[in-house]
Amino acid sequence: MLPNQTSVLVAGGGPAGFMAAITAAEAGVKGVLILEATAEPLHKVLISGGGRCNVTHACWEPRVLVGHYPRGGKALLGPFSRFAAADTVAWFAARGLTLVEEADGRLFPASQRSSSVIATLRRLASAAGVEVQSIQALQTAEASDGGFRLGLRGGGVVMADRLVLATGSHPSGHRLARALGHTIVPPVPSLFSLSLDAPSLRHLAGVAMDPVGLRLFPPSNQDPAPSRGQRAGQLLQRGAVLITHRGLSGPATLRLTAFAARLLRQWGYQATLEVDWTGGLSQAELEAHFDEARRQQARRQLGSWRPWSALSRRLWGALLEGHGVALQQRWADLSGPTQRQLIQSLRGSRYPVVGRGPFGEEFVTAGGVPLAELHSNTLESRSQQGLYFAGEVLDVDGVTGGFNFQHCWTSGFLVGEALAALGHYH
Ligand SMILES: Cc1cc2nc3c(=O)[nH]c(=O)nc-3n(C[C@H](O)[C@H](O)[C@H](O)COP(=O)(O)OP(=O)(O)OC[C@H]3O[C@@H](n4cnc5c(N)ncnc54)[C@H](O)[C@@H]3O)c2cc1C
Repeated sequence: MLPNQTSVLVAGGGPAGFMAAITAAEAGVKGVLILEATAEPLHKVLISGGGRCNVTHACWEPRVLVGHYPRGGKALLGPFSRFAAADTVAWFAARGLTLVEEADGRLFPASQRSSSVIATLRRLASAAGVEVQSIQALQTAEASDGGFRLGLRGGGVVMADRLVLATGSHPSGHRLARALGHTIVPPVPSLFSLSLDAPSLRHLAGVAMDPVGLRLFPPSNQDPAPSRGQRAGQLLQRGAVLITHRGLSGPATLRLTAFAARLLRQWGYQATLEVDWTGGLSQAELEAHFDEARRQQARRQLGSWRPWSALSRRLWGALLEGHGVALQQRWADLSGPTQRQLIQSLRGSRYPVVGRGPFGEEFVTAGGVPLAELHSNTLESRSQQGLYFAGEVLDVDGVTGGFNFQHCWTSGFLVGEALAALGHYH
C-alpha cells in the first residue's frame, strides 16, 4: 500500500535514486519512498558492464575526473570535491562491498557480478527504512502547500514534502521537470561507434590497435569551426580502437563520439575521420623505422616484416595492397616515393563517416536538466524549493569506464546529504 503522505519521494529506482534515498535515510530522514516505474529497480545496474557493473574508475583527482565528462565538465568540480571515486570505493567497502581495480583503471565488484551491487543497495535501503515501491510511475507533479502533490500513473496521489527526480533519461522525467519550471537540453545519444565508408577496412574487422589518433572533420557543407562550447581538442582523441564490420569502435572512438555527440547530431552523422594509425609517431620517427627496416631486414619480404612491432600485421598487409605493393617485395626494393605514400597513409588516412554505428557496451543519453538551474552544492532546484535532481536526468554524461555510475553516486550522495541537512524527520 502506498502512503498518502511522505517526507521524501524519490522518483526512479536506479543507482542515483537509491544513493539519494540511502544517504538521506542513513542520516536519519524518515519517510523516504522510492517509486520505480518498472517491476525491476536497478535494472540498468544488472545489465551494466557486461553483467559485471563497472561501478567507478580509479581516477582519484577531481580535477582529472571532470575531464571524463563531455557534458558537466568543470561544473562537476564542486560535487566531485565532496564525493568522488575514492569516496565511492570507501562507501561501498564500509557497507560490505569490495571493489577491485582492473589494469585499465575500471573498478568492478570483487564478485565480478552486478547482482552484488544490487543486493548491497537493496539491503542498505531496507536497513535504513527506505520503502521501495515497484510498478509505480510518477506521472504528474505540482507544487502544493510548501510540498508536492504527486499523481501516479494508476491514478493514486501522494503528497510529499520533498521530491527527488532520478528518472534517468526517461522522457517522463523530462516532462515532470518541465512541468516544475525547468528547461531540458534536448537529449541526443552518446558513446556510439562510427559507420565508415571504408571498403579497405571491412575485411580487417576484429583488428585492434593501441594507441591510435582520431580526428573528426565536418562534412564539406558545414562550418569547419567548432560550435560554441565545443573545443577543437575534443574532436581529437587518442587511444585504443577496434575495426568492425561497419567501421570503427573501441574506447577512443567512443570517447570521440561522446565529446562530439551534439556536433555529430548537427552534422547528421556525416563527417570525415582522420586516423593516425601510428598513435602520434612523428614523420622523422617513422622514417627512422622504415630506414632501419630497409637496412637491417633488407632481404625480408615487406609482408613479413612490419616497420614497428605494434603495427597490426593485417593492417600493414592491407595498406601495402592498397598501395599496389606486392607483399613478396623485399624491403631493400621499397622505393622512396612508395615509402612516403605508406608513411602518409599510416599517419593520416581519411575515411568518410556515413552514420552512427551501434552503441558500445555502455550507452547513455546526453542532455537533460542543465546544472546551471540547480544549486551546485545540493542539486536543489534554484526555482522550486524542495525539488532535487540526481543522475542521468541531469545534463551530465561521462565517457565509458565507470564514469556514468560515478556521477550517479556523487549526485545521489549530495542530494541525500542535502535532505538530511534539513533535519526533516517525521
Ligand atoms: C547496457 C548498459 C550498460 C552500462 N554499463 C555501465 C557501466 O558499466 N558503468 C557505468 O558507469 N555506466 C554504465 N551504463 C550507464 C548507466 O547505466 C547509467 O548512466 C545509469 O544507470 C544512470 O542511472 P540513473 O539512476 O540516473 O538512471 P537509471 O538507471 O536509468 O534509473 C532510472 C529509473 O527511473 C525509472 N523511471 C523513469 N521514469 C520514471 C517515473 N516517471 N516514475 C518512476 N520511475 C521512473 C526507470 O524505470 C529507471 O529504473 C550502462 C548503460 C547501459 C544501457
